[in-house]
Amino acid sequence: MKQSHLFTKTRKEAPADEASRNAELLIKGGFIHKEMAGVYSYLPLGLRVFNKIVQIIREEMNALGGQEIVLSALQEKATWEPTNRWSDDVVDNWFKTKLKNDTELGLGFTHEEPLTKLMSEYISSYRDLPKSAYQFQTKFRNETRAKSGIMRTREFVMKDLYSFSQDEAQHMEFYERSKEAYKKVFKRVGIGHLTYMTFASGGIFSQYSHEFQTVTGAGEDTIYIDESKGIAINKEVYTDEVIASLGLEKDKLVETRAVEVGNIFTLGTRFSTALGLKYTTESGEEKDVFMGSYGIGPGRLMGTIVEVLSDDKGIIWPEAVAPFRVHILELGDSEEVIKEATTLYESLTAAGIEVLFDDRVGLSAGEKFADADLLGMPYRVVVSTRSMKDGGVEVKKRSEGKGHIMKTAEFLSLLTDTTEK
Ligand code: ATP
Ligand code: MG
Repeated sequence: MKQSHLFTKTRKEAPADEASRNAELLIKGGFIHKEMAGVYSYLPLGLRVFNKIVQIIREEMNALGGQEIVLSALQEKATWEPTNRWSDDVVDNWFKTKLKNDTELGLGFTHEEPLTKLMSEYISSYRDLPKSAYQFQTKFRNETRAKSGIMRTREFVMKDLYSFSQDEAQHMEFYERSKEAYKKVFKRVGIGHLTYMTFASGGIFSQYSHEFQTVTGAGEDTIYIDESKGIAINKEVYTDEVIASLGLEKDKLVETRAVEVGNIFTLGTRFSTALGLKYTTESGEEKDVFMGSYGIGPGRLMGTIVEVLSDDKGIIWPEAVAPFRVHILELGDSEEVIKEATTLYESLTAAGIEVLFDDRVGLSAGEKFADADLLGMPYRVVVSTRSMKDGGVEVKKRSEGKGHIMKTAEFLSLLTDTTEK
Protein backbone atom coordinates (compact mmCIF):
# COMPACT_ATOMS: atom_id res chain seq x y z
CA MET A 1 0.00 0.00 0.00
CA LYS A 2 1.20 3.48 -0.86
CA GLN A 3 1.23 5.71 2.17
CA SER A 4 0.13 8.67 0.04
CA HIS A 5 -3.16 6.79 -0.48
CA LEU A 6 -3.77 6.09 3.21
CA PHE A 7 -6.41 8.50 4.53
CA THR A 8 -5.06 8.35 8.08
CA LYS A 9 -2.14 10.43 9.23
CA THR A 10 0.09 10.23 12.24
CA ARG A 11 -0.45 12.84 14.91
CA LYS A 12 1.90 14.46 17.39
CA GLU A 13 -0.46 14.21 20.35
CA ALA A 14 -3.06 11.78 21.63
CA PRO A 15 -6.26 13.21 23.21
CA ALA A 16 -5.47 14.87 26.55
CA ASP A 17 -7.82 12.53 28.45
CA GLU A 18 -6.05 9.41 27.16
CA ALA A 19 -4.17 7.86 30.05
CA SER A 20 -3.03 4.54 28.59
CA ARG A 21 0.09 3.92 26.60
CA ASN A 22 -1.54 1.52 24.13
CA ALA A 23 -4.24 4.02 23.12
CA GLU A 24 -1.76 6.89 23.02
CA LEU A 25 0.52 5.10 20.55
CA LEU A 26 -2.33 3.58 18.53
CA ILE A 27 -4.11 6.94 18.21
CA LYS A 28 -0.91 8.80 17.31
CA GLY A 29 -0.16 6.19 14.66
CA GLY A 30 -3.70 6.39 13.25
CA PHE A 31 -4.48 2.73 14.04
CA ILE A 32 -7.60 3.56 16.04
CA HIS A 33 -9.89 6.52 16.66
CA LYS A 34 -11.33 7.41 20.04
CA GLU A 35 -15.09 7.97 19.87
CA MET A 36 -15.63 8.48 23.62
CA ALA A 37 -14.24 7.05 26.84
CA GLY A 38 -14.01 3.28 26.44
CA VAL A 39 -15.18 3.27 22.80
CA TYR A 40 -12.79 3.11 19.86
CA SER A 41 -13.03 2.63 16.10
CA TYR A 42 -10.48 0.64 14.12
CA LEU A 43 -8.86 2.38 11.12
CA PRO A 44 -7.11 0.72 8.14
CA LEU A 45 -3.76 0.03 9.83
CA GLY A 46 -5.37 -1.02 13.13
CA LEU A 47 -7.86 -3.27 11.39
CA ARG A 48 -5.04 -5.11 9.61
CA VAL A 49 -3.47 -5.94 12.99
CA PHE A 50 -6.83 -6.85 14.50
CA ASN A 51 -7.69 -9.17 11.59
CA LYS A 52 -4.34 -10.94 11.85
CA ILE A 53 -4.89 -11.60 15.53
CA VAL A 54 -8.41 -12.83 14.78
CA GLN A 55 -7.12 -15.15 12.07
CA ILE A 56 -4.51 -16.71 14.37
CA ILE A 57 -7.17 -17.34 17.02
CA ARG A 58 -9.56 -18.72 14.37
CA GLU A 59 -6.95 -21.20 13.12
CA GLU A 60 -6.33 -22.50 16.62
CA MET A 61 -10.05 -22.73 17.45
CA ASN A 62 -10.68 -24.62 14.20
CA ALA A 63 -7.81 -26.98 15.04
CA LEU A 64 -9.57 -27.67 18.37
CA GLY A 65 -12.69 -28.64 16.46
CA GLY A 66 -14.64 -25.42 17.10
CA GLN A 67 -17.30 -24.44 14.55
CA GLU A 68 -17.59 -20.74 13.78
CA ILE A 69 -20.90 -18.93 14.18
CA VAL A 70 -22.13 -15.42 14.97
CA LEU A 71 -24.94 -14.89 17.45
CA SER A 72 -27.02 -11.73 17.68
CA ALA A 73 -26.12 -8.81 19.91
CA LEU A 74 -29.79 -8.07 20.60
CA GLN A 75 -31.07 -10.30 23.38
CA GLU A 76 -34.52 -10.88 24.83
CA LYS A 77 -35.32 -11.01 28.51
CA ALA A 78 -36.85 -14.52 28.43
CA THR A 79 -33.49 -16.04 27.49
CA TRP A 80 -31.75 -14.59 30.52
CA GLU A 81 -34.35 -14.94 33.26
CA PRO A 82 -33.96 -18.71 33.83
CA THR A 83 -30.32 -18.19 34.89
CA ASN A 84 -31.15 -15.08 36.91
CA ARG A 85 -28.83 -12.92 34.79
CA TRP A 86 -31.38 -10.43 33.41
CA SER A 87 -31.75 -8.32 36.53
CA ASP A 88 -29.53 -5.23 36.78
CA ASP A 89 -29.12 -6.04 40.46
CA VAL A 90 -27.37 -9.28 39.51
CA VAL A 91 -25.50 -8.16 36.36
CA ASP A 92 -24.41 -4.55 36.71
CA ASN A 93 -23.01 -3.97 33.22
CA TRP A 94 -25.99 -4.55 30.89
CA PHE A 95 -26.75 -2.01 28.18
CA LYS A 96 -30.51 -2.28 27.76
CA THR A 97 -32.93 -0.87 25.24
CA LYS A 98 -36.56 -1.26 24.14
CA LEU A 99 -38.60 -2.10 21.08
CA LYS A 100 -41.20 0.48 19.94
CA ASN A 101 -43.85 -1.58 21.75
CA ASP A 102 -41.85 -1.31 24.99
CA THR A 103 -40.54 -4.90 25.00
CA GLU A 104 -37.23 -4.87 26.87
CA LEU A 105 -34.05 -5.94 25.07
CA GLY A 106 -30.41 -6.11 26.10
CA LEU A 107 -27.15 -5.97 24.16
CA GLY A 108 -25.30 -9.20 24.95
CA PHE A 109 -22.35 -8.93 27.37
CA THR A 110 -21.63 -12.67 26.89
CA HIS A 111 -23.49 -15.53 25.17
CA GLU A 112 -23.87 -18.61 27.39
CA GLU A 113 -27.65 -18.26 27.58
CA PRO A 114 -28.57 -17.79 23.90
CA LEU A 115 -26.16 -20.49 22.71
CA THR A 116 -27.32 -23.01 25.33
CA LYS A 117 -30.91 -22.36 24.29
CA LEU A 118 -30.02 -22.64 20.60
CA MET A 119 -28.12 -25.88 21.13
CA SER A 120 -31.17 -27.49 22.75
CA GLU A 121 -32.67 -27.54 19.22
CA TYR A 122 -29.75 -29.61 17.91
CA ILE A 123 -28.43 -31.72 20.78
CA SER A 124 -30.58 -34.57 22.05
CA SER A 125 -28.48 -37.73 22.14
CA TYR A 126 -25.07 -38.81 23.43
CA ARG A 127 -24.23 -39.22 19.73
CA ASP A 128 -24.48 -35.43 19.34
CA LEU A 129 -21.69 -34.85 21.88
CA PRO A 130 -19.08 -33.49 22.27
CA LYS A 131 -19.53 -30.30 20.18
CA SER A 132 -18.08 -26.83 20.35
CA ALA A 133 -18.93 -23.52 18.69
CA TYR A 134 -17.26 -20.14 18.76
CA GLN A 135 -17.64 -16.63 17.43
CA PHE A 136 -15.94 -13.28 17.05
CA GLN A 137 -18.77 -11.10 18.16
CA THR A 138 -19.28 -7.65 19.60
CA LYS A 139 -20.06 -7.54 23.31
CA PHE A 140 -21.43 -4.52 25.15
CA ARG A 141 -20.51 -3.92 28.77
CA ASN A 142 -21.19 -0.83 30.78
CA GLU A 143 -17.76 -1.02 32.41
CA THR A 144 -17.24 1.30 35.37
CA ARG A 145 -13.55 1.78 34.71
CA ALA A 146 -12.46 2.30 31.11
CA LYS A 147 -9.02 3.83 31.45
CA SER A 148 -6.93 1.14 29.82
CA GLY A 149 -7.34 2.14 26.17
CA ILE A 150 -8.41 -0.80 24.00
CA MET A 151 -7.67 -3.24 26.83
CA ARG A 152 -10.99 -2.46 28.56
CA THR A 153 -13.72 -1.01 26.40
CA ARG A 154 -17.50 -0.76 26.59
CA GLU A 155 -17.95 -2.27 23.14
CA PHE A 156 -15.50 -4.96 22.10
CA VAL A 157 -15.15 -8.07 20.01
CA MET A 158 -14.75 -11.25 22.00
CA LYS A 159 -13.80 -14.67 20.77
CA ASP A 160 -16.05 -16.80 22.88
CA LEU A 161 -16.10 -20.54 22.45
CA TYR A 162 -18.50 -22.84 24.28
CA SER A 163 -18.04 -26.59 24.64
CA PHE A 164 -20.81 -29.13 25.16
CA SER A 165 -19.92 -32.54 26.56
CA GLN A 166 -21.62 -35.62 28.00
CA ASP A 167 -19.93 -35.44 31.36
CA GLU A 168 -17.01 -34.03 33.27
CA ALA A 169 -14.53 -36.57 31.88
CA GLN A 170 -15.40 -35.75 28.27
CA HIS A 171 -15.32 -32.05 29.13
CA MET A 172 -11.86 -32.27 30.72
CA GLU A 173 -10.42 -33.89 27.62
CA PHE A 174 -11.45 -30.83 25.59
CA TYR A 175 -10.51 -28.41 28.38
CA GLU A 176 -6.93 -29.73 28.51
CA ARG A 177 -6.56 -29.40 24.75
CA SER A 178 -7.91 -25.85 24.93
CA LYS A 179 -5.04 -24.90 27.26
CA GLU A 180 -2.55 -25.92 24.59
CA ALA A 181 -4.49 -24.05 21.89
CA TYR A 182 -4.43 -20.91 24.04
CA LYS A 183 -0.69 -21.21 24.63
CA LYS A 184 -0.21 -21.46 20.85
CA VAL A 185 -2.28 -18.34 20.23
CA PHE A 186 -0.27 -16.21 22.67
CA LYS A 187 3.00 -17.58 21.36
CA ARG A 188 2.04 -16.92 17.74
CA VAL A 189 1.06 -13.30 18.37
CA GLY A 190 4.45 -12.70 20.01
CA ILE A 191 3.71 -12.50 23.75
CA GLY A 192 4.11 -16.15 24.74
CA HIS A 193 7.24 -15.38 26.76
CA LEU A 194 5.29 -12.92 28.95
CA THR A 195 2.05 -14.89 29.30
CA TYR A 196 1.32 -17.30 32.17
CA MET A 197 -1.47 -19.76 32.67
CA THR A 198 -2.89 -18.56 35.95
CA PHE A 199 -5.10 -20.34 38.50
CA ALA A 200 -8.12 -18.17 39.29
CA SER A 201 -11.49 -18.61 40.98
CA GLY A 202 -13.63 -21.28 39.42
CA GLY A 203 -17.31 -20.91 40.23
CA ILE A 204 -19.48 -23.78 41.50
CA PHE A 205 -18.35 -26.63 39.27
CA SER A 206 -14.62 -26.56 39.54
CA GLN A 207 -12.12 -25.32 42.05
CA TYR A 208 -10.27 -23.15 39.53
CA SER A 209 -10.66 -21.45 36.21
CA HIS A 210 -7.55 -20.71 34.17
CA GLU A 211 -6.66 -17.23 33.05
CA PHE A 212 -3.92 -16.35 30.60
CA GLN A 213 -2.19 -13.36 32.11
CA THR A 214 0.41 -11.23 30.36
CA VAL A 215 2.90 -9.43 32.58
CA THR A 216 2.63 -5.65 32.22
CA GLY A 217 2.42 -2.70 34.57
CA ALA A 218 -0.66 -1.66 32.59
CA GLY A 219 -2.58 -4.71 33.83
CA GLU A 220 -5.28 -4.48 36.47
CA ASP A 221 -4.62 -7.87 38.08
CA THR A 222 -2.04 -9.05 40.57
CA ILE A 223 -0.59 -12.52 40.05
CA TYR A 224 2.13 -14.65 41.65
CA ILE A 225 4.42 -16.35 39.13
CA ASP A 226 6.46 -19.52 39.41
CA GLU A 227 8.95 -18.81 36.63
CA SER A 228 10.43 -22.33 36.52
CA LYS A 229 7.02 -23.99 36.10
CA GLY A 230 5.65 -21.22 33.88
CA ILE A 231 2.40 -20.89 35.85
CA ALA A 232 0.88 -18.33 38.18
CA ILE A 233 -1.79 -17.82 40.84
CA ASN A 234 -4.23 -14.92 40.76
CA LYS A 235 -4.33 -12.86 43.97
CA GLU A 236 -8.06 -13.66 44.27
CA VAL A 237 -7.25 -17.30 45.17
CA TYR A 238 -3.75 -16.78 46.61
CA THR A 239 -3.68 -18.57 49.98
CA ASP A 240 -1.19 -20.89 51.69
CA GLU A 241 -3.60 -23.76 51.11
CA VAL A 242 -3.87 -23.11 47.36
CA ILE A 243 -0.11 -22.69 46.96
CA ALA A 244 0.46 -26.05 48.65
CA SER A 245 -2.30 -27.84 46.74
CA LEU A 246 -0.70 -26.75 43.43
CA GLY A 247 2.66 -28.09 44.60
CA LEU A 248 4.23 -24.60 44.59
CA GLU A 249 6.47 -22.91 47.13
CA LYS A 250 5.63 -19.48 48.46
CA ASP A 251 9.17 -18.09 48.42
CA LYS A 252 9.60 -19.00 44.75
CA LEU A 253 6.53 -16.97 43.74
CA VAL A 254 7.01 -13.47 42.38
CA GLU A 255 4.25 -10.88 42.67
CA THR A 256 3.57 -8.87 39.52
CA ARG A 257 0.91 -6.87 37.66
CA ALA A 258 -0.66 -8.53 34.64
CA VAL A 259 -3.58 -8.31 32.24
CA GLU A 260 -5.99 -11.16 31.56
CA VAL A 261 -5.81 -11.75 27.79
CA GLY A 262 -7.93 -14.89 27.87
CA ASN A 263 -9.62 -17.36 30.15
CA ILE A 264 -11.08 -20.86 30.15
CA PHE A 265 -13.85 -21.87 32.47
CA THR A 266 -15.67 -25.06 33.47
CA LEU A 267 -19.36 -24.15 33.59
CA GLY A 268 -20.67 -27.60 34.47
CA THR A 269 -24.45 -27.84 34.12
CA ARG A 270 -25.35 -24.39 35.48
CA PHE A 271 -26.67 -23.18 32.10
CA SER A 272 -27.91 -26.47 30.67
CA THR A 273 -30.01 -27.22 33.78
CA ALA A 274 -31.56 -23.74 33.78
CA LEU A 275 -32.27 -23.67 30.04
CA GLY A 276 -33.20 -27.31 29.47
CA LEU A 277 -30.24 -28.50 27.39
CA LYS A 278 -30.40 -32.28 27.90
CA TYR A 279 -29.37 -35.42 26.10
CA THR A 280 -30.20 -39.11 26.30
CA THR A 281 -27.37 -41.44 27.31
CA GLU A 282 -26.65 -44.77 25.62
CA SER A 283 -28.70 -46.52 28.32
CA GLY A 284 -31.66 -44.19 27.76
CA GLU A 285 -31.16 -41.97 30.78
CA GLU A 286 -31.75 -38.19 30.48
CA LYS A 287 -28.83 -35.97 31.57
CA ASP A 288 -27.87 -32.30 31.52
CA VAL A 289 -25.12 -31.34 29.06
CA PHE A 290 -21.77 -30.45 30.67
CA MET A 291 -20.37 -27.12 29.45
CA GLY A 292 -17.26 -24.95 29.33
CA SER A 293 -16.54 -21.42 28.09
CA TYR A 294 -13.34 -20.06 26.59
CA GLY A 295 -12.77 -16.32 25.98
CA ILE A 296 -10.14 -14.14 24.34
CA GLY A 297 -10.42 -10.42 23.57
CA PRO A 298 -8.55 -9.72 20.30
CA GLY A 299 -8.68 -5.95 20.98
CA ARG A 300 -7.34 -6.41 24.48
CA LEU A 301 -4.65 -8.65 23.03
CA MET A 302 -3.70 -5.95 20.50
CA GLY A 303 -3.50 -3.34 23.28
CA THR A 304 -1.40 -5.70 25.38
CA ILE A 305 1.04 -6.28 22.50
CA VAL A 306 1.50 -2.51 22.23
CA GLU A 307 2.02 -2.17 25.98
CA VAL A 308 4.75 -4.80 26.10
CA LEU A 309 6.35 -4.38 22.67
CA SER A 310 7.03 -0.67 22.26
CA ASP A 311 9.72 1.87 23.13
CA ASP A 312 9.87 5.65 23.52
CA LYS A 313 9.61 6.06 19.74
CA GLY A 314 6.61 3.86 19.08
CA ILE A 315 5.36 0.34 18.48
CA ILE A 316 7.48 -2.74 17.68
CA TRP A 317 5.01 -5.12 16.00
CA PRO A 318 5.83 -8.84 15.96
CA GLU A 319 5.91 -10.07 12.36
CA ALA A 320 2.83 -12.25 12.75
CA VAL A 321 0.53 -9.33 13.51
CA ALA A 322 2.27 -6.31 11.95
CA PRO A 323 0.00 -4.39 9.54
CA PHE A 324 2.77 -4.70 6.93
CA ARG A 325 6.02 -6.60 7.13
CA VAL A 326 8.12 -3.98 5.34
CA HIS A 327 8.05 -0.19 5.38
CA ILE A 328 9.87 1.37 2.41
CA LEU A 329 10.89 4.98 2.90
CA GLU A 330 11.64 6.94 -0.25
CA LEU A 331 13.83 9.89 0.75
CA GLY A 332 14.21 13.00 -1.41
CA ASP A 333 12.79 13.63 -4.84
CA SER A 334 15.56 12.44 -7.13
CA GLU A 335 14.21 10.58 -10.11
CA GLU A 336 16.67 7.74 -9.54
CA VAL A 337 15.51 7.21 -5.97
CA ILE A 338 11.83 7.27 -6.93
CA LYS A 339 12.46 4.73 -9.65
CA GLU A 340 14.48 2.44 -7.38
CA ALA A 341 11.96 2.65 -4.51
CA THR A 342 9.01 2.04 -6.82
CA THR A 343 10.68 -0.99 -8.41
CA LEU A 344 11.45 -2.41 -4.96
CA TYR A 345 7.86 -1.85 -3.84
CA GLU A 346 6.53 -3.58 -6.94
CA SER A 347 8.86 -6.56 -6.74
CA LEU A 348 8.20 -7.17 -3.01
CA THR A 349 4.46 -6.87 -3.58
CA ALA A 350 4.69 -9.29 -6.51
CA ALA A 351 6.52 -11.74 -4.21
CA GLY A 352 3.52 -11.66 -1.85
CA ILE A 353 5.21 -9.55 0.81
CA GLU A 354 3.07 -6.94 2.55
CA VAL A 355 4.63 -3.52 2.09
CA LEU A 356 3.77 -0.01 3.18
CA PHE A 357 5.50 2.40 0.80
CA ASP A 358 6.18 5.88 2.15
CA ASP A 359 6.03 7.67 -1.19
CA ARG A 360 4.74 10.90 0.36
CA VAL A 361 6.30 14.05 -1.06
CA GLY A 362 7.29 17.17 0.85
CA LEU A 363 8.25 15.41 4.09
CA SER A 364 11.72 15.55 5.61
CA ALA A 365 13.77 12.40 6.21
CA GLY A 366 13.38 13.03 9.95
CA GLU A 367 9.58 13.08 9.66
CA LYS A 368 9.55 9.83 7.69
CA PHE A 369 11.89 8.13 10.19
CA ALA A 370 9.77 9.27 13.13
CA ASP A 371 6.60 7.94 11.48
CA ALA A 372 8.27 4.61 10.66
CA ASP A 373 9.34 4.20 14.30
CA LEU A 374 5.87 5.11 15.55
CA LEU A 375 4.08 2.75 13.12
CA GLY A 376 6.50 -0.07 13.96
CA MET A 377 6.74 -2.32 10.87
CA PRO A 378 9.33 -5.09 11.42
CA TYR A 379 11.61 -4.00 8.53
CA ARG A 380 12.38 -0.40 7.56
CA VAL A 381 14.00 -0.02 4.15
CA VAL A 382 15.41 3.36 3.19
CA VAL A 383 15.98 4.24 -0.45
CA SER A 384 17.97 7.47 -0.80
CA THR A 385 20.69 8.99 -2.93
CA ARG A 386 23.15 7.99 -0.23
CA SER A 387 21.99 4.37 0.04
CA MET A 388 22.20 4.07 -3.73
CA LYS A 389 25.72 5.48 -3.74
CA ASP A 390 26.58 2.87 -1.07
CA GLY A 391 25.28 0.18 -3.41
CA GLY A 392 21.70 -0.58 -2.41
CA VAL A 393 19.06 0.09 0.22
CA GLU A 394 19.46 0.55 3.96
CA VAL A 395 17.66 -2.20 5.87
CA LYS A 396 16.92 -1.86 9.59
CA LYS A 397 14.83 -4.08 11.81
CA ARG A 398 12.50 -2.12 14.11
CA SER A 399 13.67 -4.26 17.02
CA GLU A 400 17.35 -3.52 16.34
CA GLY A 401 19.37 -0.34 16.62
CA LYS A 402 21.44 -0.27 13.45
CA GLY A 403 20.71 -0.68 9.81
CA HIS A 404 22.97 -1.90 7.01
CA ILE A 405 23.23 -1.58 3.28
CA MET A 406 22.00 -4.49 1.21
CA LYS A 407 21.42 -5.14 -2.45
CA THR A 408 17.73 -5.35 -3.31
CA ALA A 409 18.05 -8.98 -4.35
CA GLU A 410 19.78 -9.83 -1.06
CA PHE A 411 16.96 -8.19 0.90
CA LEU A 412 14.33 -10.07 -1.08
CA SER A 413 15.97 -13.41 -0.36
CA LEU A 414 16.35 -12.49 3.33
CA LEU A 415 12.58 -11.95 3.48
CA THR A 416 11.67 -15.09 1.57
CA ASP A 417 14.12 -17.21 3.62
CA THR A 418 12.66 -16.04 6.93
CA THR A 419 9.02 -16.30 5.90
CA GLU A 420 7.48 -18.71 8.37
CA LYS A 421 5.13 -21.49 7.26
P1 ATP B 1 -11.95 -8.86 33.35
O1 ATP B 1 -11.73 -9.77 34.51
O2 ATP B 1 -10.72 -8.27 32.80
O3 ATP B 1 -13.04 -7.84 33.57
P2 ATP B 1 -13.69 -10.87 32.43
O4 ATP B 1 -13.20 -11.91 33.35
O5 ATP B 1 -14.96 -10.19 32.70
O6 ATP B 1 -12.53 -9.78 32.20
P3 ATP B 1 -14.65 -12.49 30.30
O7 ATP B 1 -16.04 -12.09 30.46
O8 ATP B 1 -14.31 -13.87 30.68
O9 ATP B 1 -13.69 -11.44 30.96
O10 ATP B 1 -14.18 -12.19 28.82
C1 ATP B 1 -13.28 -13.01 28.09
C2 ATP B 1 -12.15 -12.18 27.53
O11 ATP B 1 -12.64 -11.01 26.87
C3 ATP B 1 -11.19 -11.63 28.59
O12 ATP B 1 -10.22 -12.59 28.91
C4 ATP B 1 -10.60 -10.44 27.86
O13 ATP B 1 -9.56 -10.85 26.98
C5 ATP B 1 -11.75 -9.94 27.02
N1 ATP B 1 -12.44 -8.80 27.66
C6 ATP B 1 -13.23 -8.84 28.76
N2 ATP B 1 -13.72 -7.63 29.04
C7 ATP B 1 -13.23 -6.79 28.10
C8 ATP B 1 -13.36 -5.39 27.85
N3 ATP B 1 -14.14 -4.64 28.61
N4 ATP B 1 -12.71 -4.86 26.79
C9 ATP B 1 -11.94 -5.63 26.00
N5 ATP B 1 -11.76 -6.95 26.18
C10 ATP B 1 -12.39 -7.53 27.21
MG1 MG C 1 -11.68 -12.04 34.72
